[in-house]
Amino acid sequence: MRAAAPPPAGSVDIAGALAWARGLIDLMDARVLLRHVLQCPAARLVAWPEQRLEAADWACYRGLVERRAAGEPVAYLTGAREFYGREFRVTPAVLIPRPDTELLVELALAHFAGRRGARVLDLGTGSGALAVTLALELDAPELTALDRSREALWVAMANAARLGASVSFVQSDWFAALGEERFELIVANPPYIAAADPHLEEGDLRFEPRAALAAGAAGLDDLAEIVAAAPARLEAGGWLFLEHGYDQAAAVRGLLADAGFASIASWKDIAGIERASGGCWRGRE
Ligand code: GLN
Repeated sequence: MRAAAPPPAGSVDIAGALAWARGLIDLMDARVLLRHVLQCPAARLVAWPEQRLEAADWACYRGLVERRAAGEPVAYLTGAREFYGREFRVTPAVLIPRPDTELLVELALAHFAGRRGARVLDLGTGSGALAVTLALELDAPELTALDRSREALWVAMANAARLGASVSFVQSDWFAALGEERFELIVANPPYIAAADPHLEEGDLRFEPRAALAAGAAGLDDLAEIVAAAPARLEAGGWLFLEHGYDQAAAVRGLLADAGFASIASWKDIAGIERASGGCWRGRE
């Protein structure tokens, strides 16, 4: 769709700025971008549509709308995305946190309900959304979070600092750089999309780190590697909870069974899709 020529600087107000963007991008996205530029609450856009934009704000907003129209994810344009009720900073070095992944938070909280001092490991922490949330929601936990990407770790560390979460960060390719420590819970939202999946060329996924998304021909390479290596990193009685693709639950349960896990189960996300699976490591016989 072709947009009308943008109104000149100095003459455009909030209503005009939103109307101009409507030809180019989703109106909801336009509102988020305008709020980001004006640093104002949503109510202001509704309550004061005739407020004029400063020339610099108008130029900044126009630039963001044009980048959104070219496909860039809103979260990368604003540098932020909410996860489990907190705002996380994000950059193109990290996957944008998804509501689906809140399921792993719920599972971990249910698992440790009423217990203090849980030792938890988050594999492939990205923005740190899972590790930081668990550090803040569990009762006096010890959180370790790792990622192979140094750039991701900078983002995660900044989020932990900003939100006041105590997390130990380690640069590591899965478990490779960890010491002998064992954990009571390991969580991971690893890459799990099949390398040839056409969705990788659509929407936000095009702009997200491919290494955080794609995992071999069936998308199971990293899940399989984690499941095989996790027993050596879990206490007897410890659990592994993994997020996975909408059609991978049976395959992941199979991996867990092959590795000797017990109490294997899958759980549904808010959309009713089996989105996470896990099991208990009872220790070697
Ligand atoms: N849930 C993401 C998606 O399908 C993928 C995240 C991942 O690979 N871990 O868009």
